[in-house]
Amino acid sequence: MCPSRLDSYQAKRNPRRTPEPMGQGRRRRSPSRPTFVVQEHHARALHWDFRLEHDGVLVSWALPKGVPFDPHRNHLAVATEDHPLEYREFAGRIPAGEYGGGTVSIWDAGTYELEKWSEREVLVVLHGNRVDGRYVLFKTHGKNWMIHRMDRVPEGWEALPDLVRPMLCAAGELPPTSRGWASEFKWDGVRAVAYVEGGRVRLASRNDLDITGAYPELQQLGRALGARPAVLDGEIVAFDPAGRPSFSLLQQRMHVRDQTSARRLSRTIPLSYLIFDVMHLDGGSTVGLPYRERRRLLESLGLAGDHWATPASYREPPARVMAAAAEQGLEGVVCKHLASPYTAGRRSEDWIKVRRRSTQEVVIGGYTPGQGSRSALGALILGLPVDGGLRYVGKVGTGFSDAQLRELTARLARLARKTSPFVGAVPSAQVAGANWVRPVLVGEVRFSDWTASGRLRQASWRGLRPDKSPAEVVREG
Ligand code: MN
Repeated sequence: MCPSRLDSYQAKRNPRRTPEPMGQGRRRRSPSRPTFVVQEHHARALHWDFRLEHDGVLVSWALPKGVPFDPHRNHLAVATEDHPLEYREFAGRIPAGEYGGGTVSIWDAGTYELEKWSEREVLVVLHGNRVDGRYVLFKTHGKNWMIHRMDRVPEGWEALPDLVRPMLCAAGELPPTSRGWASEFKWDGVRAVAYVEGGRVRLASRNDLDITGAYPELQQLGRALGARPAVLDGEIVAFDPAGRPSFSLLQQRMHVRDQTSARRLSRTIPLSYLIFDVMHLDGGSTVGLPYRERRRLLESLGLAGDHWATPASYREPPARVMAAAAEQGLEGVVCKHLASPYTAGRRSEDWIKVRRRSTQEVVIGGYTPGQGSRSALGALILGLPVDGGLRYVGKVGTGFSDAQLRELTARLARLARKTSPFVGAVPSAQVAGANWVRPVLVGEVRFSDWTASGRLRQASWRGLRPDKSPAEVVREG
């Protein structure tokens, strides 16, 4: 008996306040091989507790990123107090305020073969349901150890990819029938790919920029997925008080990168990550699977929280889904072919976006000065990229909020140039007194339709699209 090994464990816990075992029962040694357990612990910070039965106790380490499957990525393992053997069966809730308050579940358990045990190094072969292989733990400094997988990656296991570009929709018409198609609502927000591993979330925009810092509330998604590595596709959307997606509200969030401001804004402008696809899960790519299979996997994850959701995929006739979108004031629908793989980074006819009202991305080529209170900016002069410059498509002088107007004025001033970026015909009366700018800012307008000469009718401004580059702006519809 060596009860002293559990002194530290017992000192941290009050048996009247926590359901954890106190290690005073009879200690059963395992009959054959010693056992191990890995417990997923949703405490203040998510971590995995790695425990090896040894000398009548569970010798323990806390792994902030879990057990590594990739031999090229060692994970930190922080030595913690020895736990009683009974702890290997413990799962449940430790009350808030107590040591380790939160929930504990058994992530994996099994037996192991001991190859070496010293003060600085422990070498084991684990036989669990999830983890099977040779691992070494080695001490680096103080309580800090590292855990390293010595075997090759498990068969069929793939590391989380660094980059999966989002699959893009083609603009088009509703499929006439629901046969072979699923329809989803089209959300008016910004596309984001989430890379989730070891409870951490990294977000990338559709042009591969790291946008993690702008959306601190989405870190919690890592905890929701726990130990399941995943790459997810979705749209970040801000909702107005009436519950409608609001692109202008979202604009106030998407440019803010510093943590403190982003956190403050997250309280006043809440948003949701609407998740509609999965490209990698549990150590394997899913991009080759048909949509219906990926959809089944996605739904099995049960991703629904304060700041994320898995919006429905409908099998009703697309026209009916479009009517529902109209009723709810949504932009339109995206119809997805049930048999289609995820073609990362490519525009595909397997995903068809159909907009209810017309919106168009445009490049700003200049602006006319305003009068009175709006002295700096009267209207933006818009174009679509063509060889050698922009083709003029009209002006937009309405729809700006004061904040947008201020921001645009400041940004355009920095882009001033002497000559017009437009090629081809530009009606001179429309651009009298224009200030020209370098054609690098992409924005979005709402409009009623195209004139015969290729101009926007009744355009109103929606906002800048910093996630788009001028080269990818094309006429839609
Ligand atoms: Mn723990």
